[in-house]
Amino acid sequence: MGNTKLLTKLLRLKNIKITWFEFRNRDKELHIGVKPYKNGCRCPTCNRRCPIVRHATNRSWTDVTILGRKIVLWYVPRDINCPTHGRVQEAIPWAAPYARATYRLEYLVCSFSKVMPQKAAAEILKMSASTLSDVLHRVITRVRRGHKIRGLVTLGVDEISYCKGRKFATIVYDLDRSVVVWVGLGKGRETIDKFFNTELSEYQRLNITWASSDMSRAYTEAIKHHCPKAKLVIDRFHLVKALNEAVDEVRKEEWRDLDVEGRKAVRGLRWLLGMGPSTRTKSQTRFLNDLRKSNSRIHRAWVLKDEFDHFWSYNYLASAEAFLKKWMTAALKSRIPSMRTFVGTLKAHYANIITFIERPLTNAVGEGVNRILKIVKNRASGFRNLDSFTDLIFLTKGDVDIVAHIPAGLRSV
Ligand SMILES: [Zn+2]
Repeated sequence: MGNTKLLTKLLRLKNIKITWFEFRNRDKELHIGVKPYKNGCRCPTCNRRCPIVRHATNRSWTDVTILGRKIVLWYVPRDINCPTHGRVQEAIPWAAPYARATYRLEYLVCSFSKVMPQKAAAEILKMSASTLSDVLHRVITRVRRGHKIRGLVTLGVDEISYCKGRKFATIVYDLDRSVVVWVGLGKGRETIDKFFNTELSEYQRLNITWASSDMSRAYTEAIKHHCPKAKLVIDRFHLVKALNEAVDEVRKEEWRDLDVEGRKAVRGLRWLLGMGPSTRTKSQTRFLNDLRKSNSRIHRAWVLKDEFDHFWSYNYLASAEAFLKKWMTAALKSRIPSMRTFVGTLKAHYANIITFIERPLTNAVGEGVNRILKIVKNRASGFRNLDSFTDLIFLTKGDVDIVAHIPAGLRSV
């Protein structure tokens, strides 16, 4: 067996002929001159055989690294003249047009980035982290180019922070499929308007029958405006969060007024107050019950909060409404300002809160898109720009399977 034949088999260069090879950079890199076995030059878009205009310049593609040896492929691609697409570079079987990495390297970059931090993926693939995110960005942009949202019936809108909580983005989910369909910079009305105006047709907007969002006016108003047929459900998580904050407000107020002895009694309450009835231990519940004597205001707020939890388990609209009315009266009677503010919030969004009984819709549906996004965010420890964040969201939770769209050519890795 000759050297080139051995190399072809070893590197699994199917349908590719090796014309030369040499080790460079102190044997760290293996450069290989290649030539595809082919029948004329074809257009990368329509796959038609086209006349060659000229031989372009020598180009190189980074391939996978094997046992610490980086493989680089060299070839002189032809410029062709396609009757439909004009003058373009011929289709190359191992890489996408104008890509600098081979399909199989792209495949590895994507599948590794899906399961591990980019830094670790870059280390394994022996490339710099910036090159890796560059490759990733090119693949995702290429695969998602011209992609249209389809079959959106249940919409979810949420804001998410990135760049260490200093910047915000708006995320739009398809809650039936638990996937992310769109990400946009900012969390205001312009951002969400942009989604409805550019991504959906009027027919698609009228097709949306259910929607979930937080209580931000920008989102609720935009959904009402663009999707007149949609029933809006305020996301449960956000409502519970608002209630917990109201309870915590009471705790903070009391803390301020207490002396050293009194503070001892309410120490460590912050987490305890936020816990749901199902996650508390018996002794924790007993401790909270004892507050009735030591600090009745915190106790009153906590009892209200715990009672509110029943709302989520109602099946009938009438009984849920009766419960909510009774609860609101009790909360107003408590004479706790932060609880009264919360009742105000409830009243303002009443119509969109009660819809939960009809359909318990939440943005945390399915596998918990949000939880996964949090992991992605932590993994990259603070994104500097939205692009790299969006890339990872689309890679792990997007409505297009990125990895499946990378052609199988040379993919045997
Ligand atoms: Zn063409």
